Amino acid sequence: MTPVLVVNSGSSSFKYQLIDMDAEHVLASGLVERIGEANGHSSHTVFAAAAEPGVAMPTFTEATSSRELPIPDHTAGFAAMLEAFDAHGPSLDDAPPVAVGHRVVHGGARFFEPTLITPLVEINIDELSVLAPLHNPPNLAGIRAARKAFPGVPHVAVFDTAFHQTLEPAAYTYAIDSEIAAAHRIRRYGFHGTSHKYVSEAAAAFLGRDLASLRQIVFHLGNGASVAAIDGGRSIDTSMGLTPLEGLVMGTRSGDIDPAVLLHLSRRAGMSTDELDDLLNKRSGLLGLAGSNDLRDIRAAIERGEERALLAFEVYVHRLRAYAGAYLAQLGGADVISFTAGVGENAPRVRAEALSTLGFAGVEVDPARNEARERGIRIISTDASSVTVLVVPTDEELEIARQSLQVARS
Ligand code: ADP
Repeated sequence: MTPVLVVNSGSSSFKYQLIDMDAEHVLASGLVERIGEANGHSSHTVFAAAAEPGVAMPTFTEATSSRELPIPDHTAGFAAMLEAFDAHGPSLDDAPPVAVGHRVVHGGARFFEPTLITPLVEINIDELSVLAPLHNPPNLAGIRAARKAFPGVPHVAVFDTAFHQTLEPAAYTYAIDSEIAAAHRIRRYGFHGTSHKYVSEAAAAFLGRDLASLRQIVFHLGNGASVAAIDGGRSIDTSMGLTPLEGLVMGTRSGDIDPAVLLHLSRRAGMSTDELDDLLNKRSGLLGLAGSNDLRDIRAAIERGEERALLAFEVYVHRLRAYAGAYLAQLGGADVISFTAGVGENAPRVRAEALSTLGFAGVEVDPARNEARERGIRIISTDASSVTVLVVPTDEELEIARQSLQVARS
């Protein structure tokens, strides 16, 4: 058994998974939330392999336990997590993690691969908080608390931006005054890199093709959403930029917008910087257009005949098509187009509509395959389609665990 603990830490909560890297299966997962409050909450799920008679593959039974307790800070959160392991297993004394992998949102232009965390790396992550004020500080709080909880174990930072560090200057440079851009490190960084990497590699492996030979487009469509153009395993373009606000229409974020809209709202409506930030990040996207950030609600509202829900869906799809076309052009055609994350894995209509105009480029989605309610990685294009279209369930935790183990072993 080779357990690796993966931690994804936010400001008031963190998620964790303990993964046995020999079998790449999850031993336990959990969520510690309402950190900083008196009524904190922790839940812990244990997955146990249960070999069924007559079944070659083991199935995994699960048991969840939860608890309310005060969790003043991340350190107390890790203590609660350790107590849950003690009480419900698996025992971390019997099989201690060989590495702890941490999701870190912003690695700037400094971190382009998974990195063993040292005090200096912590300082660098802290310094990059300028670029990601909402994300890097809580990521770092999680790292510091986890290093106290697991002092003898290598801790590894895996950056959301790292996979996109292969972008050429033409793709990552904004056309603004270059001195101002340099002074403030303004450029496109890209996010969801761990997912784009995992999905593009899983697609190549599933198809039995050499990653280096494939031109791929990956649509990561969750609450946050981004698309990447990947040539031979290297990201050459992606829709998110300096921050995760640019690009596709998202649950609550606007994605691409004329920057002059902000100037207009500032001058004409007297909106402050914080109000504009709140508008574009929290009150836009599907929520702003249709009153819900959840595509399932939008679909139900469309069925009830709500016009604003239909418009929201159409705006969402219009943007997906624009990026599909742009990235076909950047790559000079595609071999594989994949959909992943909450919307990408579960919304056949979004997938079909996003690609419906691409027949000229040899993209043909098979309606029955697309609608089939199957789990796991699968092909949804027709056999005649010259581009293979896939649904690929993403697994960012597993990708973080793989990269962390590699660093810990090197
Ligand atoms: P996050 O970015 O928070 O990790 P997810 O990848 O979990 O998000 O995606 C969450 C979103 O996926 C939901 O807000 C919803 O819009 C969408 N979603 C989840 N399940 C379905 C479904 N069965 N049908 C359509 N959309 C779904």
